[in-house]
Amino acid sequence: MLPFSFLIIAMLIHSAGYAFELTGGSLDFMYQRVRMEYIGIAAYPFLILWFAREFTDEKRIANRGLLSVIFTFGLTTFILVQTNSFHWFYYSSIGVSIDPGFRVIILEKGPWYYVQLTCLMFSILYSIIVFHIRYIKSQGEYKKKVQFGLLGVSIPLITVLLYTFELGPKYIDIMPFSFLIMALVLFFGVFRHDIFTLTPITYEMIFQTVDEAVFVLDEHDHVLRFNRACREYFPSFAQSKAGELIENIKEWAVYDFVEQPAHYELDDKVYHIKVSRMENNKVRVFVITDITDSEMAKKQLELLATRDGLTGLYNRRYFMEKMEEHKISGTFALLDIDHFKKVNDQHGHFEGDKVLTYFGNQIIKYFKGNLYCRYGGEEFLIFIPDSTMESAFRQLEEMRKEIQMQCKVTFSAGIAVYNGNNIMEVIDRADKKLYEAKQQGRNRICY
Ligand code: GH3
Ligand code: MG
Ligand code: MG
Repeated sequence: MLPFSFLIIAMLIHSAGYAFELTGGSLDFMYQRVRMEYIGIAAYPFLILWFAREFTDEKRIANRGLLSVIFTFGLTTFILVQTNSFHWFYYSSIGVSIDPGFRVIILEKGPWYYVQLTCLMFSILYSIIVFHIRYIKSQGEYKKKVQFGLLGVSIPLITVLLYTFELGPKYIDIMPFSFLIMALVLFFGVFRHDIFTLTPITYEMIFQTVDEAVFVLDEHDHVLRFNRACREYFPSFAQSKAGELIENIKEWAVYDFVEQPAHYELDDKVYHIKVSRMENNKVRVFVITDITDSEMAKKQLELLATRDGLTGLYNRRYFMEKMEEHKISGTFALLDIDHFKKVNDQHGHFEGDKVLTYFGNQIIKYFKGNLYCRYGGEEFLIFIPDSTMESAFRQLEEMRKEIQMQCKVTFSAGIAVYNGNNIMEVIDRADKKLYEAKQQGRNRICY
């Protein structure tokens, strides 16, 4: 975490400068050390607030504008301290005292000193508020982490207050110590509660490790981010430039980013796509799940439920369902293979199955576009909408003749007209006609 590292560096520079300052020497030498200390001191207000911002992720409260103002104040302080002998605006006088028994530099406070102090107090108080807001909002382990942050940034406030009311030791600056304690508390939090795995990093980890492919687009369809899974699903992402237009990513060139359909088929894969809008609709997050397997299973299940496994024709239940849905008039033809038992008996069940498949294919060939099913063992039912007895008969006759020529096995059929009312009654009539056909010697169609 960058602001934390900078805060530690600032604290080290401040402490080191102060340690040198205490070793005494000439006034010039000691003021040189003060100048050095201010690299750290001037940066504190900005660094504390920056730390609070990154730590809590409360970026709206600890916003960039405020940070820039605090930064400018710090920079001004730094410059004024470096150039103090020209204007005496930061320290109104600089002298040496040997009162405590050793040489210490005595610095009389000038006007900007109070500005810097106010700035530091403001920054600490503001950070405490930011931490407090986050503290109220958070729960569990995260709450504990925020507590450490809150405690950490509160420590320098105590010293700043002691100094403001001149309650601290007269010749010794305890500020470096308070920042040292602050750093220790924060460090303790780091190791004990792993505070830096907080929000942004945690989110990043989740983003990278989820199995769903995720990419983020800006309002003009440029790719802002994408995760590891996204690279694996759609390899072209790996070769794309930062901020590439999504339509330039090969796998997404044909997807409709206006309609954003939830299903996207690509090669032999099926994806489910969930789109979330964020940041006032400016950003869209696409979460893509590979649903190829479940879609296949669904199709397979559908197939099993509606079709006959041997011939591939619809089953009786599905046929009836469809007929009930659309009650349109036409003709029903009920077909039954002649002496099929003999086929089984003479050539075996397996050969019998082959004959059934052959019949299925013939029906598909001759009656494509109509509704048909395997009605029972070696019986088939065909519905020909808007047809007459004669036209249905002609169609069936054609098929009967071809089968007779190609195959030793024949079929008989009965035809009945349907006016859109009782299906079972009309099938019954067709069955009676089929019986007639069998009676008359088979291999014929009756109506
Ligand atoms: P008919 O000309 O009077 O219709 O004589 P048939 O032998 O075809 O008469 P039946 O209806 O008595 O016999 C039908 C036979 O079809 C009986 C059954 O063993 C056979 N069968 C039914 N389903 C299957 C199947 O899935 N595979 C095979 N190989 N045979 C089947
Ligand atoms: Mg039969
Ligand atoms: Mg039969």
